[in-house]
Amino acid sequence: IVGYYNGQFVTPNSGIVPLDERGHQFGDGVYEVIRCYGGRAFLLDWHLDRLWMSLQAIRIAPPFTKDECATLIERLIVESGELEASIYLQITRGSAIRNHLFPNPAVKANVSATVRPVASQIAKEPGTLLMMADERWANAWIKTINLLPNILAKQTAHDMGADEALLVRDGAMIESASSNLWFVRDNQLITAPADRYILNGITRRFVIQLADRLGIPVRETKLPAKDLATVDGIFITGTLTEVFPIHRVLTHPDVPYVSLPDVTGLQQLSADKCQVAWEA
Ligand code: PMP
Repeated sequence: IVGYYNGQFVTPNSGIVPLDERGHQFGDGVYEVIRCYGGRAFLLDWHLDRLWMSLQAIRIAPPFTKDECATLIERLIVESGELEASIYLQITRGSAIRNHLFPNPAVKANVSATVRPVASQIAKEPGTLLMMADERWANAWIKTINLLPNILAKQTAHDMGADEALLVRDGAMIESASSNLWFVRDNQLITAPADRYILNGITRRFVIQLADRLGIPVRETKLPAKDLATVDGIFITGTLTEVFPIHRVLTHPDVPYVSLPDVTGLQQLSADKCQVAWEA
């Protein structure tokens, strides 16, 4: 395991982040998670392109070039000695006395990273999703470190015995809390279009490319939640999730998905009220 902060290799929890740090205080930053296979960062160019898009979206000046960033990631992998690893890379607006306004004059962005060993998920048993309302903001396409709605959704799913959330926005099943959502129907793949309401996953893009090569049609369209019963299969994708099959979707009467939930969504719920809405 290797940690990195602004030019230095550190042990990951050495307490190096200043208190007046905008990522720490405001969640004012963006990140990437990159999978390392056999000692090499997978789809690194796509990750760096998305990172630069996220930085631009929230007006953080990149503290290095993409090439320098790629070199840093390669150094981190070598330093870690890992072959199968996840690389977490975070860039925040920098350190300045707490103020909602951007620091003026601007300060240098803070770069931090960790490299940790991971195992492949591919052989795992199929999982379960819990259907719930997507309460995220309207810029889910930006890979911001503000993940409170995502972690609450995933924790609620976990509390109900599910592996992930199935997020519904405006009546359509668009994404999961930390992965993209796919349906199989009539020998076609269906996934939500990469508009502002979902993160355009690198794995999602890779699966679209693979399907294209295999001649499997992919429809990028929003599937209404009411059509759940019509699908033949479901899977989710993500950098660490890889391609993970789903065999069951649950609903819970206190976790609505057609309208914004009231505060009950944040309370401890009883798992035995869950109902199976779809099963493989
Ligand atoms: N959606 C969300 C909300 C995510 O957090 C992630 C990644 N953790 C994904 C989708 C999958 O994206 P990627 O394939 O780039 O990991």
